Amino acid sequence: MSASTDRSEDLFRRARAVTPGGVNSPVRAFNAVGGDPRFIRSARGAWLTDVDGNEYVDLICSWGPMLLGHAHPEVQATVAEAVSRGTSYGAPTEPEVELAEEIVARTPVDSVRFVSSGTEATMSAIRLARGFTGRDLVVKFAGCYHGHVDALLASAGSGLATLAVPGTPGVPESATALTIVLPYHDREAVTAAFVEHGDRIACLVTEAAPGNMGVVAPEPGFNEFLARTCAEHGALFVSDEVMTGFRASRQGQWGLDGAVEGWRPDLMTFGKVMGGGFPAAAFGGRADVMARLAPEGPVYQAGTLSGNPIATTAGLTTLRLADDGVYEHLTKAGETIKAAATDALAAAGVPHVVQATGTMFSVFFTDSPVRDFADASRQDTAAFAAFFRAMLDRGVYLPPSAYEAWFLSAAHDDRAVQTVLDALPAAARAAAEA
Ligand code: PMP
Repeated sequence: MSASTDRSEDLFRRARAVTPGGVNSPVRAFNAVGGDPRFIRSARGAWLTDVDGNEYVDLICSWGPMLLGHAHPEVQATVAEAVSRGTSYGAPTEPEVELAEEIVARTPVDSVRFVSSGTEATMSAIRLARGFTGRDLVVKFAGCYHGHVDALLASAGSGLATLAVPGTPGVPESATALTIVLPYHDREAVTAAFVEHGDRIACLVTEAAPGNMGVVAPEPGFNEFLARTCAEHGALFVSDEVMTGFRASRQGQWGLDGAVEGWRPDLMTFGKVMGGGFPAAAFGGRADVMARLAPEGPVYQAGTLSGNPIATTAGLTTLRLADDGVYEHLTKAGETIKAAATDALAAAGVPHVVQATGTMFSVFFTDSPVRDFADASRQDTAAFAAFFRAMLDRGVYLPPSAYEAWFLSAAHDDRAVQTVLDALPAAARAAAEA
């Protein structure tokens, strides 16, 4: 591996001149870990190659989508064939129908509407929930991310069950005044919010298993409790599976709890894996709720590139190839890396907790289990930053934040996993010295 990062540094300098912070999504910057992001020229399987020719085992996987690894030959072939016929028509196509059928077959939704990003999916699901119920309040959990929807970029107000305040400049108070933000896993807070505002709550939206504060598996029965509480008050339960969908298991997080316990969300959102590395996302759910959507019903929602034939072809090929063997491989590779991370951090005396749901996992740099965002916020982010930089120096590209899942793919073979294992002890020692 060449140690030079000259070309990345040069591109980052040019990027900063023409793009705020030099990146097109803040998570790509290295603000939390120090140093400059590497600019990627190509990727194959589990490996990224940067513009200087350095290679890295990729533990970001495009923040989730690349379930099969990069440049999968069959995905590439079907995409190339689709591109050869044209790239967007603004009229319905066959792959949209087939991808919708695949999603309906794997999940409890009766129908889906495609959009181009997870943000659009949650935004549209909330509009539909409000249109269906005729109510205006939305309940969410601190630390759950649902995209940059104004109403969901909200922080808890001064007390539990009080209305939220904007989480970023640019979001007006009026946009978050209809949002209630509660601590994750806090059943009493949920009950109190519904007792106080139940007849005004359109929906409760939650990550099916939070992955955006690091991975926090819902305690057994928690999602069922949320679904039941919503039903008791005539509100809709919106389960955001943009990250977990088709990744935590073949049927997403729902495959790990709802399918076992016998309940289903009223609405769900999907993204990432179902686009196979292209911009595609979806929301779907109960037939009677989805029937309220235009043009069948009165709730408006639309998109020029929604259901784009290239994106839906990539997603369809990805889902068709994502058989049980893929999830078994993710489980096995994940177990190996989790065990090695635990051993290395313990040997170096670095406080840490490894948490998982299905095939998804993350490492928290803290000494006690993480149940909610307050727990996750107790992490030693300086230790993580040192750990991240040492992993990068040894050819492993982790998400540059302590609050993220480590993503694997079916292409993470023995050589890729061994590269991670070889890097861990020195990175753990670097974390100990931070
Ligand atoms: N919901 C969840 C659970 C997510 O993880 C994300 C993205 N990380 C989103 C919604 C937003 O998706 P997008 O970035 O495609 O807008």
